Amino acid sequence: MRLLKGTVFCSFFFTSHHPSNMFRTMTDKIGSHFQVHQKDYLSHLSDSPISPSIASTQSSYVTSILPHYDHRGSFSTARTSFSELSKRGDSLDCILEGRERSRASYRLDDFIINRTLGTGSFGRVHLVRSKHNLRFYAIKVLNKQRIVRSKQVEHTNNEQAMLFSVKHPFIINLWGTFQDHTNLYMVMDFVPGGELFTLIRRSNVNKFPDPVAKFYAAEVALALNHLHSQDIIYRDLKPENILLNADGHIKIADFGFAKSCTSVAYTLCGTPDYLAPELCQQLRYNKSVDWYALGVLAFEMLTGLPPYHQPDANPVVLYEKIIAGPTNIRWPSVITDNAKDIIMKLMEVDPSKRFGNMRNGSGDVFSHPWFREVDWEKLAMREITAPYQPTIEGEGDARAFDRYPEDNVAASYGLPGPDPYGYEFPEFTYAHR
Ligand code: AMP
Repeated sequence: MRLLKGTVFCSFFFTSHHPSNMFRTMTDKIGSHFQVHQKDYLSHLSDSPISPSIASTQSSYVTSILPHYDHRGSFSTARTSFSELSKRGDSLDCILEGRERSRASYRLDDFIINRTLGTGSFGRVHLVRSKHNLRFYAIKVLNKQRIVRSKQVEHTNNEQAMLFSVKHPFIINLWGTFQDHTNLYMVMDFVPGGELFTLIRRSNVNKFPDPVAKFYAAEVALALNHLHSQDIIYRDLKPENILLNADGHIKIADFGFAKSCTSVAYTLCGTPDYLAPELCQQLRYNKSVDWYALGVLAFEMLTGLPPYHQPDANPVVLYEKIIAGPTNIRWPSVITDNAKDIIMKLMEVDPSKRFGNMRNGSGDVFSHPWFREVDWEKLAMREITAPYQPTIEGEGDARAFDRYPEDNVAASYGLPGPDPYGYEFPEFTYAHR
């Protein structure tokens, strides 16, 4: 456990062989810890980047370059732009009518831009500090030209619309969005504990013990259930997109492929290792692709690799295996019978027989014996202490994130110039420096 510092459950990683013990311990740990975080959650609105409250904590930066691990890219074959979608009469505004929260307006000059936290296909995510309340936030910067050229206009507009419509303790909070000539900007809470992906890779065995995997899987299940109850498919579940908050609880980020969907969808998108069989076959699909991905996630957390991992990244072989189904998986002995059973049921090839998508809906997932020890109500209230507490020394400490070359990109933000694509992103208000 060399790299898992400062964790309450550090000893557990070595000593406990009884999932039930851990969950009992976890469920017993109610007290000041919980009260602080619940207060945090309820006082959400007063934490706005432009609210007058003043934070007193100082940032502390780690200057060392952390080892870089490869993240798996997401992809999409979407070909519909937002303007085309609007013409069809099912614009995002219609879809989300009555569900959106009020949003504040921001501009680049409200923030001091700090280091890069992560990169994506269209830009990067920066740690920033509000000049108004001195608190830290994350801003995702997306280059408009790259989005348009990659035909990802609809997905980008979806991302902001979905995030605005969702409010859940295990899902990232979006404060506001704006655009200038070149870029789109999304102002989010800074989630300081880093990616679950990094945590798995930094554990000394590259995998989690059963109760730890179960804890994260259970929180993800609650978040997915909430999204589905709002008719949102997430479509890109993977450890890279699960961040850990300061208290060790999850925050699902990157809603680039999230979509409002009451029935079925067709667009092929996601991350190859996590694609459900119907997606690989380009068939229509529904929310159950997220439950399938939860099965893959559970397997990856328990073993360190997704079930059909191809060392040579050969997509044809990968898709053949996905379509053939989980009966062909080689199960390492660390996977308990209950874990194997729920993974098999989540990774069921036939969506009509897949856990989460049958008559009992998500009830089948929540009542599965693998989750027997989980007190879902307490978990949803974050009353169960997380298995790993990130080491964070003050607000703005981003040591949990890998370092990326900065290349002085922030200097180019907000510069004047031609703006041929602004009309494609009508929900991003204009706010020049
Ligand atoms: P995304 O393009 O949304 O997948 O973000 C790329 C990476 O930036 C993520 O994998 C995280 O490592 C990091 N990141 C994104 N959003 C946040 C956030 N709100 N707080 C901290 N890090 C973030």
